[in-house]
Amino acid sequence: PSGAEPATKVVINLERLQQLPAEKVGPLARYAATIQSQRGDYNGKVLSIRTEDLRSLAIIYDMSPGELTEQLIDWGVLPPEARPARED
Ligand code: C2E
Ligand code: C2E
Ligand code: C2E
Repeated sequence: PSGAEPATKVVINLERLQQLPAEKVGPLARYAATIQSQRGDYNGKVLSIRTEDLRSLAIIYDMSPGELTEQLIDWGVLPPEARPARED
């Protein structure tokens, strides 16, 4: 995969997120917690977020959206299916 494209559907694995060290996932964990709070959505194992939010997070992580998608798959926070199909 090129890793150049952002995830198509962003469904964050909250249980996995909690297992990872804060120095890696701190900004993402705070972002997810804020969205949960705004929605009043506290009991889910996963959290669907906006594609726009992935773009904002990529800026925070100083990566392209596609690179951040690969990183999140690597951490197990996104499933491999989040990787967009290549349009060759
Ligand atoms: P789906 O989008 O594939 O989500 C499957 C399940 O993942 C959901 O089952 C829910 O348990 C969990 N899930 C996904 N995103 C979130 C999230 O942001 N927060 C929480 N707490 N859980 C999440 P559920 O709730 O039984 O929904 C079944 C299906 O119904 C969903 O499949 C989706 O197709 C539809 N659906 C439910 N809520 C919405 C919604 O707000 N908008 C839209 N468009 N579809 C929804
Ligand atoms: P808002 O953006 O003005 O959205 C108001 C309501 O419209 C939301 O209430 C939700 O019921 C619905 N809504 C808006 N966009 C979507 C969408 O793409 N899918 C679904 N299923 N529903 C949508 P809710 O959920 O109580 O959220 C309240 C406010 O919290 C939102 O106001 C927004 O300011 C913020 N928020 C919630 N979730 C997110 C998120 O994933 N990303 C961002 N950036 N903000 C969010
Ligand atoms: P979803 O609810 O199935 O919505 C799929 C796409 O439809 C959204 O992708 C967005 O492009 C559009 N959409 C749905 N509702 C609205 C709306 O009220 N206003 C606008 N402008 N567009 C809408 P997106 O933004 O990438 O969001 C992906 C998923 O993240 C949504 O799937 C939903 O599960 C979740 N989500 C996003 N924002 C909110 C929110 O404010 N509240 C809640 N509860 N869930 C949200």
